[in-house]
Amino acid sequence: MKVFKFGGASVKDAAAVRNMTAILKMFSAEDLVVVISAMGKTTNALEKVTNAYFSDITEAPKNLDVVKNYHLELMEELFPDKSHQVYNLVNNLFVEIEWVLEEPPSRSYAFVYDQIVSTGELISTTIISNFLNASGVSNTWLDARDCIQTDNNYREGNVDWELTQGLTRSKVDALFKKNKIVITQGFIGGTSENFTTTLGREGSDYSAAIFAYCMNADGVFIWKDVPGVLNADPKFYKEAQKLERMSYHDAIELAYYGASVIHPKTIKPLENKNIALHVKSFVNPDLPGTVIGKDFQTKPLIPSFIFKENQVLISIAAKDFSFIAEDNLSGIFGLFARLGVKINLMQNSAISFSVCIDNDALKTPELIKELMNDYKVRYNENLQLFTVRHYYPSTIDMLTAGKEILLEQRSRQTAQFVVRTINN
Ligand code: ASP
Ligand code: MG
Repeated sequence: MKVFKFGGASVKDAAAVRNMTAILKMFSAEDLVVVISAMGKTTNALEKVTNAYFSDITEAPKNLDVVKNYHLELMEELFPDKSHQVYNLVNNLFVEIEWVLEEPPSRSYAFVYDQIVSTGELISTTIISNFLNASGVSNTWLDARDCIQTDNNYREGNVDWELTQGLTRSKVDALFKKNKIVITQGFIGGTSENFTTTLGREGSDYSAAIFAYCMNADGVFIWKDVPGVLNADPKFYKEAQKLERMSYHDAIELAYYGASVIHPKTIKPLENKNIALHVKSFVNPDLPGTVIGKDFQTKPLIPSFIFKENQVLISIAAKDFSFIAEDNLSGIFGLFARLGVKINLMQNSAISFSVCIDNDALKTPELIKELMNDYKVRYNENLQLFTVRHYYPSTIDMLTAGKEILLEQRSRQTAQFVVRTINN
């Protein structure tokens, strides 16, 4: 069997869903688990609903209406018959959110976030499963929460692999006896108390890897709007080139540094079972794409660039200018871990410790406030972090031209720069 993953862009409107249907028809001989994300930008829109619910509860239903109307329009294109069961099924999912929004919040933000935001994937898979069945692609809808079991770490659930493997095998094997195609959600899992968790933003790739691991799949296919893994984001770098092959190691490094092409947690479960990961274009499904696997030499071996925007660089120094020593660092790292802040780059000198992190509207102010209790803290916002793997000196000159470099770090394979664009 194989695992397919379709992201938000590949199912963003009725035409995209039809295109996806055509791709599945090309693979009608295979047993497939098809993992699907929320449609288009639905996850962002549901995040907005959640944020409104916590800041101004009267705004939340208006934000939800935007999500409802988007899906309704899409459904009206796919299902002209208004009595089709899909309308009721999707409506019931929205009603669950509406119930939550009726009462003021009584549980943590992260908990509520997962209960609301996970609905995007439940809706997309409900629509698509029904559309496929109506189009002659017989499939069964599977609730991923009955397979992927996590702890209660809302917004970043940790997978219980043993439990997940047992449940996934028995459920999916049973469904394959009925239909060759199983349609399920990316990004979401369930807890032992039957609450919904999410696996971190862009986590659908990871879900695909979890299903592949549990089912010992022959391969994972991620269908994207790009021809494969590129050496740079074409939004930032027009001359981006496609890589034909890539080692797991290079893929992990690129994902770790923030290449948005693959979720960072995706590779490890695949590497453990030596399952190849194919990244292919849903626009040109016949083209070969990129294959990531064991012992692959990355080919062509050209520099790869990763840009991360909206970075903050924080410098932490002792109030009395004493050294930043191991005991300070252990306290500092403890704080980052407690607040769930990921460090993208760090550097220390005798009297200061600098870290570059993503600027999160909630976590960053909290972190800075707590650091200020014990340290002198300075920070710069609106920075970019770029990372080059397999770099040449000339690549670095080109990338840093017109930019002020606030911090840099180089190893043999990888160079990283925190920069500010100089305006004028
Ligand atoms: N829908 C989720 C997100 O946008 C998961 C995913 O797309 O991978 O973050
Ligand atoms: Mg997505």
